[in-house]
Amino acid sequence: MKRAFKYRFYPTDAQAAELSRTFGCVRKVYNLALAARTEAWALRQERVNYNATSAMLTAWKKTEELAYLGEASSVPLQQALRHLQTAFTHFFARRAGYPRFKSRKKSRKSAEYTTSAFRFRAGELTLAKMTEPLEIVWSRPLPKGASPSTVTVSQDSAGRWHVSLLCEDPTVGPLAPTDAAVGVDAGLDHLLTLSTGEKISNPRHERRDRTRLARAQRHLARKAPGEGANRAKARRKVARIHARVADRRRDTLHKITTRLVRENQTIVIEDLTVRNLLKNGKLARAISDAAWSEFRSLLEYKAQWYGREVIAVDRWFPSSKLCSVCGTLRDKLPLHVRTWTCDCGTTHDRDVNAARNILAAGLAVSACGAGVRPQRSTPGGQSATKQEPPRREP
Ligand SMILES: [Zn+2]
Repeated sequence: MKRAFKYRFYPTDAQAAELSRTFGCVRKVYNLALAARTEAWALRQERVNYNATSAMLTAWKKTEELAYLGEASSVPLQQALRHLQTAFTHFFARRAGYPRFKSRKKSRKSAEYTTSAFRFRAGELTLAKMTEPLEIVWSRPLPKGASPSTVTVSQDSAGRWHVSLLCEDPTVGPLAPTDAAVGVDAGLDHLLTLSTGEKISNPRHERRDRTRLARAQRHLARKAPGEGANRAKARRKVARIHARVADRRRDTLHKITTRLVRENQTIVIEDLTVRNLLKNGKLARAISDAAWSEFRSLLEYKAQWYGREVIAVDRWFPSSKLCSVCGTLRDKLPLHVRTWTCDCGTTHDRDVNAARNILAAGLAVSACGAGVRPQRSTPGGQSATKQEPPRREP
């Protein structure tokens, strides 16, 4: 399976200049080709394909005005035309809107190199038009013997440089099956609560980072749009804090999802769309919606790699108010009540009980199908509607 490995790197001044120039050329070529395709269609109802735009690129390089395009490596420019082709394919298939122009300020700065435009030897990556290899921070090893087929260089809004290497990863494959299954609840006090009783907290520093972010955002908001340098500085600061918060969060979610997938055959979560319906301000979860979707997508792609199953259950049933041991439903369970004791004598932690009910609902759905098999998880997961929660046999 092909897998992208992303690392931070520190370019020399010359490399940074070369890359910034390449990003500019990539954007220019993308925008020129988009304009040409749009015009051809609007004026002459002609469809311009990738090959035609590639011929245009050759012609553009010969004009005085665009001669500078010839100074950049041609591969990232060709890749930009391919990306535009993909954007149009999605548009024609009604999967996406009409392709948009890339903006100098707002669009992601990136350039994609294929094998003819880089050299990867003895763990050193050298890009076309460069003499020195990139100084990459190898925060984790590439799979043994891996050789990248595509390399993407990018710079984020906080000014950090990253390189992503697409490699064949032979270590990714189904794990030995296990009987273990777990239910995951988006807890009120904790990030996640597992049906095993374990509670996973927010990453350290999360609260402090959020306070800092809010302060930086207020500071930015006070700067008038015309304030040039000061405003740009404030914007950069916000971007830097944002990036740090997102990095820490992603790191935490990566660790949790890897562990859940390694330890369990089946992982049951609640469906986000339904969760949104339940949102009423008071029910603010410890995990944000953005973090939850990231959690879910990480979980789903890892489950696919390792032959595990992710089941998303709709939460129409009152999972907090239902005793996971005897199935008795309580009338009321105000939000401040964190633990309660059922008539059957079981004392429940509110969130753990909810996670257990989610697990039971998921397993019931799974059993209704053609038996529990690995690889049933599809991209996007499996959604199951349960009106009635399953009851455990006494
Ligand atoms: Zn009970």
